[in-house]
Amino acid sequence: MMEIKRTIKYEADRVRGFAQEIMSVSGCEQLKSCIQCGTCSGTCPLSIYMDFSPRQVMALVRADFKNEVLSSRTVWLCASCYACTVECPRQIRITDIMYALKQRAIKEGVYPKRFPIPILAKEFSKMVRSKGRITETLLVMRLFLKANWRAVFQSWRLGLGLRLGLGLRGRLQGLGDEPGIVRR
Ligand code: SF4
Ligand code: SF4
Repeated sequence: MMEIKRTIKYEADRVRGFAQEIMSVSGCEQLKSCIQCGTCSGTCPLSIYMDFSPRQVMALVRADFKNEVLSSRTVWLCASCYACTVECPRQIRITDIMYALKQRAIKEGVYPKRFPIPILAKEFSKMVRSKGRITETLLVMRLFLKANWRAVFQSWRLGLGLRLGLGLRGRLQGLGDEPGIVRR
């Protein structure tokens, strides 16, 4: 039998005014009219990977549970596909709310520790602000070092192999034999 888990939320955990702050962001005003129908969660292709479903995020934001929302993985797993926004019966722009939450999380430095997506977003904007452009290799190195440096060492053989063609020579050479692919 499936186990049903319930989480008890306490009044003291609420950060008064958070919902109002998010709803004051352009495009997020309609959040107050959410009827908790769950259509967004049912539509979202990524909700099975999220710690809170989109419907739960809407409920938590409206109830001022700021810390739970900003430290969750949900806002970072949102792929901005807009499926939920299209289907919402109350025309709530859920994707825009997710963006507002991401911006807020980065501004306050509250996001899941060593989770790569917020680190990538932060490093990306930092690089654009300082240099006016990004250097992909440097960006990826910074991401790996800040998110999961062990992965760098676990992947070094693959990276070296791709670089030198070691062990992958057959496949790499084979690519050049495909029609339409010109070896340079
Ligand atoms: S689909 Fe719209 S109204 Fe329904 S739970 Fe999601 S945000 Fe609320
Ligand atoms: S925009 Fe984000 S929350 Fe909405 S359906 Fe797509 S992935 Fe899910």
